[in-house]
Amino acid sequence: MDTRNTLYDVVVIGGGAAGLFLAAHLPTSKALLIEHKEAAGKKILITGGGMCNLTNTQAKEDFLQHYGSRAQRNFLLPSFQAFPPSSLMQWFESKGVSLVTREDGKVFPASLDAHEIRDVLVRESKASIVYNSKISSLSKDGEYFSIHTDNGCFTCKNLVLATGGMSYPNTGSDGSGYSLAKMLGHSIVPPKPALAAIMVDTYQWKHLAGNAIRSSYAEFHHPGEKKRFLQATGDILFTHDGLSGPLILTASRELKAGDSITFSLLPMENKREVQEYLLALLSSQPKKQVSTILKEAGLVTSLAQQVVRELALDPTSTPAHLNKAQRQDLVRMVTERRFIIKGIKGFNAAMVTCGGVSLKEIDRNNMQSKRVEHLYFCGEILDVDGQSGGYNLQAAFSTAYCVAEHIQV
Ligand SMILES: Cc1cc2nc3c(=O)[nH]c(=O)nc-3n(C[C@H](O)[C@H](O)[C@H](O)COP(=O)(O)OP(=O)(O)OC[C@H]3O[C@@H](n4cnc5c(N)ncnc54)[C@H](O)[C@@H]3O)c2cc1C
Repeated sequence: MDTRNTLYDVVVIGGGAAGLFLAAHLPTSKALLIEHKEAAGKKILITGGGMCNLTNTQAKEDFLQHYGSRAQRNFLLPSFQAFPPSSLMQWFESKGVSLVTREDGKVFPASLDAHEIRDVLVRESKASIVYNSKISSLSKDGEYFSIHTDNGCFTCKNLVLATGGMSYPNTGSDGSGYSLAKMLGHSIVPPKPALAAIMVDTYQWKHLAGNAIRSSYAEFHHPGEKKRFLQATGDILFTHDGLSGPLILTASRELKAGDSITFSLLPMENKREVQEYLLALLSSQPKKQVSTILKEAGLVTSLAQQVVRELALDPTSTPAHLNKAQRQDLVRMVTERRFIIKGIKGFNAAMVTCGGVSLKEIDRNNMQSKRVEHLYFCGEILDVDGQSGGYNLQAAFSTAYCVAEHIQV
């Protein structure tokens, strides 16, 4: 079909999770989806470690609490009310995809293969898809939008921007969608990486990469400030140049170089109780090696050895060898290890983008632009970012559904 001479009811720009889901739910097949990569849904393929964690069932009551700000939660409310995780799951199951829900509420295709999700979305598209199409300009002249690409010019009544954010740019979401939004008069909240690992200064824990601390308690401080600006409990993972894991990923949108993180090497609900417990363990076993006592307390062997090494203790040291100050240092090291943050990983390694098309300029009830009639947005191009656990894909799917429900063809 020569797609260029048709006047389309809808043109969708961006064939990712949001664009494809929208294309599957459009009320018309006189629709075109323009994708600038050679394939659609490239990012879907790497979600959830290639298994695609498409939503989460655990947080029914406080689902919205998993998004970055009150403004975002307020904005997403109507989309989630109209299309919650249960509806998403029903839809995929109705298309023949079996799903599994893990204990932590994360939902995956039973095949644990993200290709299955991507392929169903492409198969269900009601829009024709053109690949490898670079857009040079967009405009609205009277009633219709004109989209100029290196494959010709397309005209449509409704235009949807679903170009994603700018993390993992090699998947196609390279931030070029923000320029398209700007061409049509929208403002962009400056994008920054979110759900990203952090690098830390003078990091001597490289050999611990791959080890995790379960339910660590962490506090974050700006340089020179005594008052913490953030506290969190969750899992922390050691990497070759810093820290990752759910606690760090979630916090990353708030962090910058120079901030510090203080965290426990053990699960900790009450710092004082854990400190007293450790001191009691040391006092009651004066002849046992310190590293053995730390392991008894719950540290993995390599972490216990690292603590002993950092305190410049002999590996065979026992509590009997330690004076009061050394015992206190040891306990502090286990309950309040501090690192200075050297930087946050960039867009090449961040899972999502914080920032994007300003929510103030979009009607949350239908995802239509308040500036340009018949212009819509869905997915991560919007200034919406969720925690890890299926929240970002659900936001992409629910906002796409909202567009499909309200677009006037
Ligand atoms: C490593 C990784 C793992 C993740 N895992 C999960 C997970 O398990 N669960 C979860 O909920 N979220 C996860 N996410 C986040 C999730 O993938 C995104 O939030 C989601 O894909 C956003 O969907 P979208 O359609 O808005 O954008 P995208 O999926 O990024 O799609 C945008 C599409 O638009 C196209 N495009 C961009 N610009 C243009 C242009 N100018 N012209 C034409 N086409 C254009 C792109 O090529 C792309 O195909 C993960 C992200 C990463 C990077």
